[in-house]
Amino acid sequence: MEKGMISVDRWSEGSQVYFLTHLHADHTNGLSPTWKRGPLFCSSVTAKLFPFKFPGFNLSLLSVLDVTHWHSLSLISPSSGLETTVQVMAIDAHHCPGAVMYLFRGEFGCMLYTGDFRWETTSKRAQIGRTTLLNALKNEKLDILYLDNTYCNPLYSFPSREVAAKQVVNIISSHPEHDIIIGIDSLGKEDLLLYISRLLNMKIWVWPERLQIMHLLGFHDIFTTKTSLTRVRAVPRYSFSVDTLEGLNTLHPTIGIMPSGIPWAVKTAKPNDNLFGSSISRHNRSSWSTNVAMKKPNENLKIVERYHQYIYSVPYSDHSCFPEIQEFVKLLQPTNMKGIVSKSPSYVDPLYYFGYLCAANQPSKRLCHKLEGEEVGERVEAVHVKRNRGSRNSTDAESKRRRATQVDFLGVRVNRVSLLRRLRCGAKIVDIDCTE
Ligand SMILES: [Zn+2]
Repeated sequence: MEKGMISVDRWSEGSQVYFLTHLHADHTNGLSPTWKRGPLFCSSVTAKLFPFKFPGFNLSLLSVLDVTHWHSLSLISPSSGLETTVQVMAIDAHHCPGAVMYLFRGEFGCMLYTGDFRWETTSKRAQIGRTTLLNALKNEKLDILYLDNTYCNPLYSFPSREVAAKQVVNIISSHPEHDIIIGIDSLGKEDLLLYISRLLNMKIWVWPERLQIMHLLGFHDIFTTKTSLTRVRAVPRYSFSVDTLEGLNTLHPTIGIMPSGIPWAVKTAKPNDNLFGSSISRHNRSSWSTNVAMKKPNENLKIVERYHQYIYSVPYSDHSCFPEIQEFVKLLQPTNMKGIVSKSPSYVDPLYYFGYLCAANQPSKRLCHKLEGEEVGERVEAVHVKRNRGSRNSTDAESKRRRATQVDFLGVRVNRVSLLRRLRCGAKIVDIDCTE
């Protein structure tokens, strides 16, 4: 596809139409209430949440795409000046509310931009997505796949969200006298919270802005901002730290649960730590990645990591793990593919692992632990997909610090200076799962 026609999750350069996969911050970097470069296509749920994220935005720029239907767009070829038709289909990405992937076809061929996605082998929604995608492709070859490669590394083999959610409930149930805090982003992990609420028959505390989002999503009776109504609190990920947990435990026994595909690498608990009588044991990361597979749900107790006496890390992720990505690529057999996440602790070009699955049998040759930004920009031909989590992190970290000084911290009075110190010096939050 020629440059200057379509942009996906990229907002700074001139294109004729723009597509937003979902509202996490690393996909909206460059969008603002005053942005007005052109029509912006998104899902209906994203459109509903959009004014909350960007108050004052000119909503006439938004166009909602129904999922699973082809839509035709008339664009102008920048090189020839002639009209050309592009067809696009949005498909449920099963990532966070409103998240979709986009399938494009036109004179340029056929390409799929996944955005962030999680398609578990056991998920009905993912199965519907797979069927939709295959039906849309029919016998057409996929020329290029822009892939959510967040966990495109064999290190990241974790169970389905269903299995991980059961573990979260087990942890909470085995700590009946404790307060519980769960680190989440401003969007995503709703299904986990709903599951906890349903299984344990309790409300869940969220911060006021999160409550508004829950109401927009149609969840009216499950969440509360009153700490007196529940012992389970879902808190902003940026406020979740070892120091926070240690501080809270001076007031009341409290444990923290971090749901994420990447372990929460902080202070290590002593091997015999069993402070709360929990039956869940700690074990090391290598045994997690090698022993825990999607096909072994009965061993799910092993998936829980206990890194600190107060903290459990549960591999509940809204991104596909390595085996799921492998299945996805095997299913589609694209001619070529690019990872959309160029900065991650374990970045490897997806072609290194999956080149042999591509229709053109791309050589599995490029082991690039740090793909140069320029390289991504050049390889992404017309759809400008480069994302740079590294540069965003510093900005986000600053804004998170600013916001932290303004919050009523987890419903507990916390000195602002102390809070700042915790955010700066406390255990670092591994910021890879969803980023917002
Ligand atoms: Zn995301």
